[in-house]
Amino acid sequence: MAALVLQIHDIDEDGKDYTFPLSSAWLQTELADAGLRADPAAIPPVVQVHAQKNGAEYLVNGRVDADLLAECGRCLGDAKVPVHVAFATLFCRKSDKHTPAKAKEELEEEDFQREEFSGHDLVLDGLVREQLVLECPMQPLCKPDCQGIAVPEHLRPPPEVFGSKENRHLDGAGVDPRLAPLQRLRDKVPPNKPHKKE
Ligand SMILES: [Zn+2]
Repeated sequence: MAALVLQIHDIDEDGKDYTFPLSSAWLQTELADAGLRADPAAIPPVVQVHAQKNGAEYLVNGRVDADLLAECGRCLGDAKVPVHVAFATLFCRKSDKHTPAKAKEELEEEDFQREEFSGHDLVLDGLVREQLVLECPMQPLCKPDCQGIAVPEHLRPPPEVFGSKENRHLDGAGVDPRLAPLQRLRDKVPPNKPHKKE
């Protein structure tokens, strides 16, 4: 059910401002498929729009501010996905689709996305969802240098597993021998300790 709805009889040439909080339920419904969810620790997500009538069309300028969470592509932990984007969409009545549109000199049409509406409502749910999903990276990371899931030593496969197939570039022992001193050093360093600057 659409939650972000503007009623056209409220909107005149001067325009009208709207603020829509995005509820957890809305985010859950719209974004679960995309692997995104609300961050309970963040400022609640919000959509702000300014809508104005332009002839028979309605121009909606808006912005979305939402701090979402996705699953880190390496360790499956929480990866923050901050979304702070502006959008501009021109709503045209659906029945107008087949009639040739009059050239509107004052509007550079390429600057706008186009949406259709019917009845008396401009429904923003789909385009807001799109803004959120487009901002989510292909592989979200909890931090840029996430090392992935730490595998306890007793669960690590024997070196010959790595030497055989997947790590052909390595020298048969799982770790490039030139890196072995670094590997030993890394094993000694507790996690999350900041690296010394060189
Ligand atoms: Zn991670």
